[in-house]
Amino acid sequence: MRRGVLGRGVGLSQRVVVVGGGFGGLQAVRKLRPAAVDVTLVDRQNFHLFQPLAYQVATGALSPAEIAVPLRWVLRRQANVRVVLAEVTGFDLERRQIVLDRLPNGRRGVTLDYDTLVVSGGSQYSYFGHDDWRPHAPELKSLDGAVDIRNRILSAFEAAEVEPDDDLRQSWLTFVVVGGGPTGVEMAGQIAELARDSLRGDFRAIDTGAARVLLVETADRVLTGFPPSLSHKAERALEKLGVTPLVGHTVVDVGADSVSIRSGSGEVEEVGARTVIWAAGVAASPLAADLAAAAGAEVDRAGRMQVREDLTVPGHPEIFAIGDMVQVARSDGTIVALPGLAPVAMQEGRYVGRAIRNRLRGDTTPPFRYVDKGNLATIGRSKAVADVKGIRVSGFPAWVTWLVVHLFYLIGFQNRLLVVTRWTFSFVTRGRGARLISESAAD
Ligand SMILES: Cc1cc2nc3c(=O)[nH]c(=O)nc-3n(C[C@H](O)[C@H](O)[C@H](O)COP(=O)(O)OP(=O)(O)OC[C@H]3O[C@@H](n4cnc5c(N)ncnc54)[C@H](O)[C@@H]3O)c2cc1C
Repeated sequence: MRRGVLGRGVGLSQRVVVVGGGFGGLQAVRKLRPAAVDVTLVDRQNFHLFQPLAYQVATGALSPAEIAVPLRWVLRRQANVRVVLAEVTGFDLERRQIVLDRLPNGRRGVTLDYDTLVVSGGSQYSYFGHDDWRPHAPELKSLDGAVDIRNRILSAFEAAEVEPDDDLRQSWLTFVVVGGGPTGVEMAGQIAELARDSLRGDFRAIDTGAARVLLVETADRVLTGFPPSLSHKAERALEKLGVTPLVGHTVVDVGADSVSIRSGSGEVEEVGARTVIWAAGVAASPLAADLAAAAGAEVDRAGRMQVREDLTVPGHPEIFAIGDMVQVARSDGTIVALPGLAPVAMQEGRYVGRAIRNRLRGDTTPPFRYVDKGNLATIGRSKAVADVKGIRVSGFPAWVTWLVVHLFYLIGFQNRLLVVTRWTFSFVTRGRGARLISESAAD
């Protein structure tokens, strides 16, 4: 193992290290643009991923490069920032250092000093203690994961086309999505559209429209973050697309060629299915547990560490932790239940950037307060639900709102242009331009 110390960035006296160039970390870095600080952004991947559109890569509607943008490019005009490609594997709070592994030059165990640290490591899917299901039920959290799912979905149709046995063919044409949150609903809707619209006519031996898409959700409705009326509208819209929402059902086993599903009455049915997509429980990045252990802070059942209402780690005002990996505790001890959403992480990132700037001026910053601007989920072509400050909308108006909001938050003018062009083309032709089976995430 080769160890070392990573030197200063641009040479200013205050060193701010930001871990994670996702929604939270990137906003913190950008907010520090006018500050006289030396910022180092460390991420294990060289791009910012727009996760809300990952399901469109997984279903061949968009290409990976259209939802990911290189961090260096995003920050090219921000002179006080350097980007370091490395994995953070440890925190030494006494020495005010983080430990970096897997640097591109092969070094490991390299330390990086900070005066202020911001950690925004995000989250990952949790298989509720069944990690053996992971190989059979991939998740959408990363770009590689989205490409893997795309390969599996498209390969399943190819396998069905050449499969002479009826039962086996049906198992290739059965798709099970686990988890009825926004990602599960989007995935199920898109697979149904792929089968019924985009692929129809492309195959000779099979009718892709006969594909079964099951959406399994333990709760008694999908989209539990929305009011029940919108959940029920979403279920009806899914059914119209050809999805079977199995609410009140739980997946109890996942194998290479079947899924066992328990109904509300306790009966377990084994369904032959070759493609299973995991969109269920979420757990915080392991960085939360590492940082909490180093600081003596608490973590909850989902692995999120508790931070104070100014988003600092208890006992360490020089360390901020934000985004999916934290939960905020008010000064009276109550926990603020913030959802694992991009706007939460972005607002927290901007707050931290502002707080650091205020500190440099000797000013204090009032506690963080999340401003909830509403909730959106899309189901398919012209179908979405929106709950914006109590105004509940579904169908085409909600879908247009969804499109506009996602385009607005997508980073990079080029990506916005490419995505809008793709969407327009797909809307008119019902086609999907990125239907490649490929091992490379660049395709
Ligand atoms: C499939 C999917 C769909 C979603 N759809 C929506 C949606 O429609 N609307 C919405 O509001 N939210 C959506 N979300 C949630 C949203 O993406 C998250 O809430 C948001 O990304 C959280 O931001 P973050 O900064 O905490 O983490 P992230 O954005 O995940 O960023 C974490 C960053 O940290 C880096 N990192 C992690 N560990 C290390 C390490 N050890 N060393 C170095 N770098 C590390 C990662 O590479 C990553 O760049 C979706 C999430 C998923 C997975």
